[in-house]
Amino acid sequence: MRKTLYLKFIFAYLLFGIFGFIVVATFVSNMTLDACKQGAAGNLYREATIIADSYAADLYNSEVSLETVHQQLTALAGYTNTEIWIMNPSGRLVVRSGEMIPPNTEIYVKGFDPAELTGQLYTIGSFWDSFSTEQLSVIAPITGNYRTNGYVVMHLPMQAILKEANGLLNISYIELLFILFLSLIILIFFTEIVYQPLRRITKATEQYAVGNMRYPLTVESNDEIGYLAASLSYMAGEISRAEDDQKKFIANVSHDFRSPLTSIRGYLTAMLDGTIPPELREKYLQLVLNETDRLTKLTNGLLTLNNLGTKGMLLSRTDFDINNLIRSCCAMFEQQCRDKQITLELVLTGEELYVNADRDKIEQVLYNLLDNAIKFSHSDSSVRVETNEKRNRIFVSVKDSGIGIPKEDQGQIFERFYKTDLSRGKDKKGTGLGLSIAREIIRSHGENINVISTEGVGSEFVFSLPRSELNDQIEE
Ligand code: ADP
Repeated sequence: MRKTLYLKFIFAYLLFGIFGFIVVATFVSNMTLDACKQGAAGNLYREATIIADSYAADLYNSEVSLETVHQQLTALAGYTNTEIWIMNPSGRLVVRSGEMIPPNTEIYVKGFDPAELTGQLYTIGSFWDSFSTEQLSVIAPITGNYRTNGYVVMHLPMQAILKEANGLLNISYIELLFILFLSLIILIFFTEIVYQPLRRITKATEQYAVGNMRYPLTVESNDEIGYLAASLSYMAGEISRAEDDQKKFIANVSHDFRSPLTSIRGYLTAMLDGTIPPELREKYLQLVLNETDRLTKLTNGLLTLNNLGTKGMLLSRTDFDINNLIRSCCAMFEQQCRDKQITLELVLTGEELYVNADRDKIEQVLYNLLDNAIKFSHSDSSVRVETNEKRNRIFVSVKDSGIGIPKEDQGQIFERFYKTDLSRGKDKKGTGLGLSIAREIIRSHGENINVISTEGVGSEFVFSLPRSELNDQIEE
């Protein structure tokens, strides 16, 4: 593509030039010759009539001598580069410019018939075989006493007309050359505005094709080509970012799988080679079980995230009572709360509060948030779950007064595998996937989830859900 586009344009340019010359050489040349013939014939005819009305008429009225008229006509013919005749209707030459007709000599134009010219201003040819070269001839009648006494005939060699036409044609050729030269500007514009940027884009796409997504592509123009380059560059950036994310993701997954597997292997080897005495085996088997639990949790989390991502999140939305879901979800944590002496405080709006969402997925969000809140709470504290209704939205908040999240971590906790340093000691089983799953689910509902937290004071997670119209029917 690179070379041919330019060649095509040059080819089109040459074609334009060739056609231009063909048009000038044919149409324009014919038109110029026609115009020259018409112009010359018009002028000759005007002069011929003037002669017919003056010298010729005087000659027929015997007011001037033949010699005088001959002199006058010869002078006039010299100026106009023509040959001027005065002839009788019978075809006999009376006066001829140039060489005088000797007395007693009669020159006839054989077959002379001015009627053949009726309706025509001029005739081109040998004038009834009087000339060997082509002439443009006009005939003006000499009238007197209501009859035609004779004719004034003027001949102009066609050679002279052709010469004039060619002179004019040459001007047209020069004009065409100027136009061609000026149209080079279009070629320069094309090169600068289209061809060069396209070359840069093509080069960039070749680099992208071989995986060099960081190849810089800048085309600074505010037109379609600039837009195309910007889109391509954006696409390459996105692909490159996706690649980085994928690498990071795989590194995280591998790391998170490797550490429990290393511990399991360590405990089992120690048991087999007797480093761990038989009476302590139960304790270490419990540790192995905990690690496998963590692996299971991790695998499930990854599967959930994968399903959420690949299915484009097919939600099965229903209208359900979020208060009821909160109550049943809290019930699942009864044992954990009792163990840590944590009270769950429910501050719910209304008896029933309907939302329109995917019930199972929202249950997962609530479960993840409650699990974190309880995990990161100190013993003997309380976790508050609240529902609120604002502008067609239902807001659910899960608030604890636990360890809190450092400010610098707050932007990242929703990312996959992210865990704060603070929490690592408290929660060895954590996968760092719970919040990213929650965010995916809430976003797929077109809603938001946010965190407000102060380190050492506590955290509050708030997410919104679309309000169901069922609430209005209940109110009525
Ligand atoms: P995990 O399985 O580790 O809980 P999450 O994605 O649910 O994964 O949470 C990511 C990290 O965010 C946690 O490891 C913890 O550092 C922090 N975090 C989440 N919820 C809370 C909370 N209620 N209080 C303090 N830190 C929290």
